[in-house]
Amino acid sequence: MRPIIKSNKLDSVCYDIRGPVHKEARRLEDEGHRILKLNIGNPAPFGFEAPEEIVRDVILNLPSAQGYCESKGLFSARKAIVQHYQSQGIFGVDIEDIYIGNGVSELIVMAMQGLLNTDDEVLIPSPDYPLWTAAVNLSGGKAQHYRCDEEADWFPDLDDIRAKITPRTRALVLINPNNPTGAVYSKELLLEAVEICRQHHLILFADEIYDKILYDEAKHIPAASLSDDILTVTFNGLSKSYRAAGFRVGWMMLSGNLKAAKSYIEGLEMLASMRLCANVPNQHAIQTALGGYQSINELVANEGRLKVQRDTCIELLNSIPGISVKCPKGAMYAFPRLDQKKFNIRDDERLVLDLLKEKKILLVHGTAFNWPEPDHLRVVFLPHKEDLEKALTEFGDFMDGYRQ
Ligand code: PLP
Repeated sequence: MRPIIKSNKLDSVCYDIRGPVHKEARRLEDEGHRILKLNIGNPAPFGFEAPEEIVRDVILNLPSAQGYCESKGLFSARKAIVQHYQSQGIFGVDIEDIYIGNGVSELIVMAMQGLLNTDDEVLIPSPDYPLWTAAVNLSGGKAQHYRCDEEADWFPDLDDIRAKITPRTRALVLINPNNPTGAVYSKELLLEAVEICRQHHLILFADEIYDKILYDEAKHIPAASLSDDILTVTFNGLSKSYRAAGFRVGWMMLSGNLKAAKSYIEGLEMLASMRLCANVPNQHAIQTALGGYQSINELVANEGRLKVQRDTCIELLNSIPGISVKCPKGAMYAFPRLDQKKFNIRDDERLVLDLLKEKKILLVHGTAFNWPEPDHLRVVFLPHKEDLEKALTEFGDFMDGYRQ
């Protein structure tokens, strides 16, 4: 039989968080090794369980959730999302402007497939959450990476954004709070980004999936609250703040100038209907999740488990000679820098593979996040404090003698 070759649409598509290093970790696990996993933002396996009432709501509704629903999602869930945004000062959004998907991931791909023609460009942060780059490339577009500045608390470099705009630029992506840097953007920064979109007729894609995971009194400002004249597409879901990543529930909200986006909306509606609808039983969790008591607040408060783990992680990383890290104000990741004078790393994937083999600790290399230099790593601080202490002490020992 002739070899079966994958589509060339995938030639420039890459998602290294679950790439070769991840596969090697699975192989080691199959051999019986215990791997300390600081690599994926999946809260539940680390004992961050989903709020009980949302699990109950899904169970209660299971018998009546056997059929398909509307392509955009259940009415009650979309209504709850509209009300949630109203409570954040975002008015004028209709139920029809909400699309529920099998996680934000599905909707990011949908949003790009519906928008991009060959070689259309999208401005994406570097470092990024790499699904954004992958989705743009899969859709025939080109990801133009703009620099986030480590010296400026990882804020986007607005001059770099402006310099990378061309006649083919269609949109700007902001991930706020950010994965992998943990940056939480100020109102000033967001207003300037909105102004860039206004001047250059760009869509603003705001990935706000970590909007409730905030430390040290950081405040999240939804991008959609800052304009009503540019098209803003906001993404959020249950995977992080509600620790229900396996439910695969996310949503996207269109706001701002919808009149100008009539054709794009037709495209999105078609793509949503082609996949019939998202998982119906789990959509029942949305209404319960968004209303009332928010248990995530306890986890990120001063003595809260996630906050304590963040502090432990940052303190330990900064105590390793040659490693420095900006303190994340949101999300569940640290993105430490490795001093190249000390380590001389040329291949950061090789580094994480060496660490995995020698210490059975799993991190993700910085270039997997479309960071251009092999001098950063991403550390997930979801494991218990004791596990983090063990892993990062071992990591420090490993790095002590490491040079490529
Ligand atoms: N956006 C960002 C910034 C993420 O970090 C993630 C997952 O890690 C996603 C989107 C995907 O989330 P979901 O589980 O809703 O597909």
